[in-house]
Amino acid sequence: MGKIILTGDRPTGKLHVGHYVGSLKRRVELQNSGEFDDIFIMIADAQALTDNADNPAKIRDNIMEVALDYLSVGIDPAKSNIFVQSAVTELTELTFYYMNLVTVSRLQRNPTVKSEIQMRNFETSIPTGFFTYPISQASDITAFKATTVPVGEDQMPMLEQTREIVHKFNSVYGETLVEPQILLPDNKACLRLPGIDGKAKMSKSLGNCIYLSEDEKEVKKKVMSMFTDPDHIRIEDPGKIEGNTVFTYLDAFSNEGHFAEYLPEYANLDELKAHYQRGGLGDVKVKKFLNNVIQEELSPIRARRKEYEKDIEGVYEILKKGTEVAQERAAQTLSEVKHAMKIDYFEDPEFLSEQIKKYK
Ligand code: ATP
Ligand code: MG
Repeated sequence: MGKIILTGDRPTGKLHVGHYVGSLKRRVELQNSGEFDDIFIMIADAQALTDNADNPAKIRDNIMEVALDYLSVGIDPAKSNIFVQSAVTELTELTFYYMNLVTVSRLQRNPTVKSEIQMRNFETSIPTGFFTYPISQASDITAFKATTVPVGEDQMPMLEQTREIVHKFNSVYGETLVEPQILLPDNKACLRLPGIDGKAKMSKSLGNCIYLSEDEKEVKKKVMSMFTDPDHIRIEDPGKIEGNTVFTYLDAFSNEGHFAEYLPEYANLDELKAHYQRGGLGDVKVKKFLNNVIQEELSPIRARRKEYEKDIEGVYEILKKGTEVAQERAAQTLSEVKHAMKIDYFEDPEFLSEQIKKYK
């Protein structure tokens, strides 16, 4: 059995540095490792509609943005299939059958969905589609027989749900689906990068993001306005590292090479942290360093984006081709699923012979 990746993002906005450290960077490394037989990267528009039903224009607007973000971080269409979820209609059909294998109370226990419901103030008006999106995610993953799903920490409950569905399906209908493994970032700070406002998660929906496509000036402005330690008022005051977003970002982005280049008076991040904790180190100096680090990471991404922006027809073709490949693969799995469930009446010659025998 081959090694296959499935992962994706909701086209609810441009991608941000949280996506980058949480998932995108890893995807590119995995893609270039040559260890995978197939890589599917999904623009999850159908999932995005589950909480944006009244605003389809927003989703439509962001399809190309996300595709450009993918290409600009180094997703290579020669090695990875980028596709649009809603165009692969087999995924919705799989979801419909998987729904029968999951209870309402199981969905209610999903901690990520719980907090997202709270964040969106859905309370008693949760759209059914939104409530069931973990099941649709199980379809996305299993349709491609994915073995590996590189995502951020918030996706852990979705992977658990998927594995449960795979077990249930295989035990009821016979061995058909493949059990996927989640692949989380190794760096703890990248599991769930906080927003620039210090909130627990950088998220398009919270508007606390640094976007991959933002220009240098805008990024600098955001870095300089970042949340730090509110009790660190004068430079000489001792400062806190825990919950200090600037240091979390340095954990996520910086390495010793950055110190040698931009801040040679410190050998590494531990020394910088120690000075901040002792007192005598101002936020501005740390933020300027972080800005240099982030700009270094983003500048080749921006440059590649500019190139792809000149060829939107080409990007459209990439999406179309990737979607065709995805559709073919999902159709194959759907037919195996229907066969296992014995509901493929018109492809299964035994169905007719059984019926003839029965009515003889
Ligand atoms: P939305 O607010 O619309 O849900 P989002 O910013 O949460 O958007 P998604 O498209 O839901 O982004 O997530 C795409 C991928 O990026 C997932 O693998 C998720 O785990 C990862 N991810 C999103 N935000 C972060 C973050 N702040 N830190 C690390 N990974 C993240
Ligand atoms: Mg999300």
